[in-house]
Amino acid sequence: MVLSNFQSHFSFVLPTKIVFGPGSIKTIGGELSELGIVRPLIVTDPGVYAAGILDKVLSAFPQNIDYKVFEKVQPNPKDIDVLAGADAYRSFGSDAIIAVGGGSPIDCAKSIGVLVANVATNIKAFEGKNVPSKPLPPLLCIPTTSGTGSELTFSSVITDTANKYKMTIKNAFTAPKTAICDPELTLTVPPFITAATGMDALTHAIEAYTATCSEPISDAVALYAIELISQSLVPAFENGNDLEARSRMLMGSMLAGIAFSHSDVASVHCIAEALGGMYDLPHGMCNAIFLPYMMEYNMNYCMRQYARIARAMGLDGVAQVAVSAVKQLAKDVNLPSFSSLNVGVADYMEIALSSVKNLSNASNPRPMTEHDYMTVLKMALE
Ligand code: NAD
Repeated sequence: MVLSNFQSHFSFVLPTKIVFGPGSIKTIGGELSELGIVRPLIVTDPGVYAAGILDKVLSAFPQNIDYKVFEKVQPNPKDIDVLAGADAYRSFGSDAIIAVGGGSPIDCAKSIGVLVANVATNIKAFEGKNVPSKPLPPLLCIPTTSGTGSELTFSSVITDTANKYKMTIKNAFTAPKTAICDPELTLTVPPFITAATGMDALTHAIEAYTATCSEPISDAVALYAIELISQSLVPAFENGNDLEARSRMLMGSMLAGIAFSHSDVASVHCIAEALGGMYDLPHGMCNAIFLPYMMEYNMNYCMRQYARIARAMGLDGVAQVAVSAVKQLAKDVNLPSFSSLNVGVADYMEIALSSVKNLSNASNPRPMTEHDYMTVLKMALE
């Protein structure tokens, strides 16, 4: 029997302590004291602030913590947000960073840590895989969306504003020390963001499982993530107060994050990041749009894996069934089609070229040139 993707040599390190469960935010005092944090910079965004999530977190803080809030992170966090956050860290004399939010504040917090650790001002100098860095200040993450898994991943995705593209700082040193994952903090996520972030997590799991560099542990984690997300996304979308569905979605996105940081993402992310950088669009929505078309395009390269994905989704173990189910799921949660975004045809080649340059292009099961990306863009349009 041939077990493709069964690598016999790999390492698996999960450097982040996970504290999971409804109400787990109440443990923050103990976690801060374990890390020796007394003067953190809290990195968040205006939406998290307005939803009352920051107040819930701050009310669980012990008395001895002196903190400063930096709440200016934009969606698809920008290099200028990172610089402003690093300035806030330095002027307050912080000793650690706490990120409260979705992938945007968490990624911004990671890159703020890179700048302050290296007494640097330009995050672009750290773009790429394993660029050396001095040790980062302690980072504690509190995810408030169920999508990116960034609270457990080894990367920070930042928009290079001069060139309008999303760069990745990919290195295990960006992994948080602790992640407090409290599903109650996700109850206020509005339906569209629940849908987009949920499809982001599903994309992580599917791409991790089918990537050229996948390995057995990430495969196992990815398959359970697919099971949890495919069962729970529609219930969480339809009833945001369904704590059971929210808990399963948060766990699904965490597992998907673990899976792709030990394996990788692939061409869906290459397109989503190219498009998101150019048009400043929600990342999960971009993934949701391209996931079924990219799966279709990859079909002959991962028939066996797609059949297992279909089974993980509770369906017949047939490869095409997985593609149809993923397309249907994006429709069930009202995510838009590619044509509705009105992306200029003149930009397709730039999106294709940017996708080829993405660090994860080589991880796609089917080798992808700019010509292949043009084909997938046209498939999604039709
Ligand atoms: P986000 O962090 O941009 O949040 C989206 C919106 O949801 C914001 O307006 C925010 O205020 C709001 N929000 C967040 N939590 C809320 C809550 N509990 N209640 C109400 N509103 C809430 O979105 P995201 O999808 O979590 O993160 C996207 C970013 O993460 C993108 O830049 C993407 O490239 C990046 N990303 C990073 C990784 C990684 O491993 N580092 C992986 C995937 C994606």
